[in-house]
Amino acid sequence: MNVFAVEGLPEVRPGDDLAALVERRVDLEPGDVLVVASTVVSKAEGRTADLDDFPPSPRAEEIADRLADVAGEEKDPRFAQAVLEESTELVMEAPFLLTATRFGHVGVNAGIDRSNTGDADLLLLPERPRESAARIRDGLSVDVPVVVTDTSGRPFRHGQRGVAIGWAGMPASRDWRGERDRDGHELEVTVESVVDELAATANLVTGEGDDGLPVAVVRDWEFGNHEGSDELYRAVDGDFVRQALREWEYARD
Ligand code: GDP
Ligand code: MN
Ligand code: MN
Repeated sequence: MNVFAVEGLPEVRPGDDLAALVERRVDLEPGDVLVVASTVVSKAEGRTADLDDFPPSPRAEEIADRLADVAGEEKDPRFAQAVLEESTELVMEAPFLLTATRFGHVGVNAGIDRSNTGDADLLLLPERPRESAARIRDGLSVDVPVVVTDTSGRPFRHGQRGVAIGWAGMPASRDWRGERDRDGHELEVTVESVVDELAATANLVTGEGDDGLPVAVVRDWEFGNHEGSDELYRAVDGDFVRQALREWEYARD
């Protein structure tokens, strides 16, 4: 397979038609996967905000004070308020804010970005990224899957990488259960999150800084003959790490 970034995209503005912007610059082919960084999806959907849009509640003040205490530097309670408003659950309050978004993604600061935000202070994640992916796909002249990504940290490992937060036109995972390994043993648990793997692949060429490359095309990759699944986000009642975090409290020393 091949992966390449789409060159020459402008600064994306609210109301921009991403499908059209992309197709003006690349001839998509059947079998491609179009991978789009959430930053430009958010910009096109007008998901920008200013810190002053978030007058802090007492709870936000309390969270910011705690974070400031832990970090030894000022923390803006308006930002804490923005994170609270974008979240359905606070998974960790210190030493950083780890929260669940409405659509199921768990991330630091609810995935709110303070870089590559254009003229605004903040860039919020798309409200419903699967619908965003479907809309972009509907606007394309070629029927290809679309994956919307964000850069995300991982527990247990240093470094960040691209993950999928929305997808359309393909399942999120391919299910290897019931297939056999080289020794003839039946696979019992392996469900491969291919949308995350495509997101990480695209992130290799889109970069994180000022490259101006928010869209990548993965060409000549095949899903293959497997069952698929759209389950990407664990439900809390089956997520033991998340449950353990509910019992856990940050202590300095
Ligand atoms: P995120 O991972 O979705 O949060 O997005 P990043 O901030 O890491 O940006 C991914 C890529 O998109 C980088 O190459 C940025 O330079 C680029 N980028 C961000 N916004 C724009 C934009 O409005 N226009 C263009 N052409 N590139 C952008
Ligand atoms: Mn981001
Ligand atoms: Mn990124």
